[in-house]
Amino acid sequence: MSAPATTIFTVMTALAEETGAINLGQGFPDEDGPSLVVEAAVAALRSGTQNQYAPLGGVAPLRAAVLDHQRRRYGLEPEDVQVTFGATEALASALLGLLSPGDEVVVLDPVYDSYPAIAAMAGATLRRVALHPPDWRLDPEEVRAAIGPRTRMLLLNSPHNPTGRVLDRAELEAIAALCVEYDLIAVTDEVYEHLVLDTDREHIPLATLPGMEQRTLTISSVGKTYSLTGWKIGWASGPAELVGAVRSVKQFLSFAGGTPLQHAAAAALGAGDGLPGELAVALRGKRDRLSAGLTAAGFAVLPSQGTYFVCADADPLGHPDAEALCLRLPHEAGVVAIPISAFVSDPAGETRSLLRFAFCKRESVLDEAVQRLVAWAG
Ligand code: PMP
Ligand code: GLN
Repeated sequence: MSAPATTIFTVMTALAEETGAINLGQGFPDEDGPSLVVEAAVAALRSGTQNQYAPLGGVAPLRAAVLDHQRRRYGLEPEDVQVTFGATEALASALLGLLSPGDEVVVLDPVYDSYPAIAAMAGATLRRVALHPPDWRLDPEEVRAAIGPRTRMLLLNSPHNPTGRVLDRAELEAIAALCVEYDLIAVTDEVYEHLVLDTDREHIPLATLPGMEQRTLTISSVGKTYSLTGWKIGWASGPAELVGAVRSVKQFLSFAGGTPLQHAAAAALGAGDGLPGELAVALRGKRDRLSAGLTAAGFAVLPSQGTYFVCADADPLGHPDAEALCLRLPHEAGVVAIPISAFVSDPAGETRSLLRFAFCKRESVLDEAVQRLVAWAG
């Protein structure tokens, strides 16, 4: 395959830097993660023993911490765990290791940008199932219609980037039943597992549903949960065969490193769910603050139940084309956002006027962005 174009996140962050605009595009916090975790990394760096290659599977304390996390939080008993360079490498290794050319993979649409790129590298084809705005509900019959004789895998992301949707139990049960009926492997991208912001929602790993633990590879990472997106420590857990497929590819992509950060990630997970819980409370306030501000500026704001992101419709402001708007907004308003068209198969479809804003920023930064947008819209 030819190399994919530069990612939308890189393009929009470069535009923010070039124009000095506030970057509510690429999803990264503007404050460091918990000091307990940062200090654990410093201690590992100074240890004199934790700066060389890690064992291929990952350092023992992190592998144990992931197993313990899956057990205590979800009641899962994964047979194996593989530490990776972020969830991104786990996803890439899973698709490259488990798919053959011509295989089909069912995904949600909008879809996170690395999935189509990696599927193409694996020679596989995506079958997209739309989440429809404004409530982004999944229709199980559309999932069934996307499954064909070459479908081998269902790749699911919930809480979902870019919509902020957290799939509910009924939707997940319907997906699980289809995976069992059609004998599909499930790969789940759960990097936002701790960032469910609505208190009446919960994150339900697909692996916890009947018939799923033996066919599900579960992927997560420290980036979002601990506001450490540059650390790139992730993991895949689940049945030995699926984790083994990840390992066999991963060993030739990057082998095993980030050793001190792996040790710090073990300390993070070992500290329990209090730290991510505090982050979720803070993010809830930020989501509400930015959503109110976007509404005041004249956008129609869509509900977001989790992640770092909220979507807003620029059509009421007279801007039907979000892609064109996102290229002008840094210059005209001093704010960067991402067009949802970057995540969908049909950029001219029902999401054409939607923008994604990241709210994982200091409140003063969100307030300044809102002031700028209100002034621009007025
Ligand atoms: N999946 C989704 C849905 C994401 O939003 C991201 C962005 N962090 C990733 C995977 C990649 O995670 P990591 O940074 O751990 O590679
Ligand atoms: N996950 C981040 C986002 O959706 C971007 C990560 C990246 O730049 N590849 O904004």
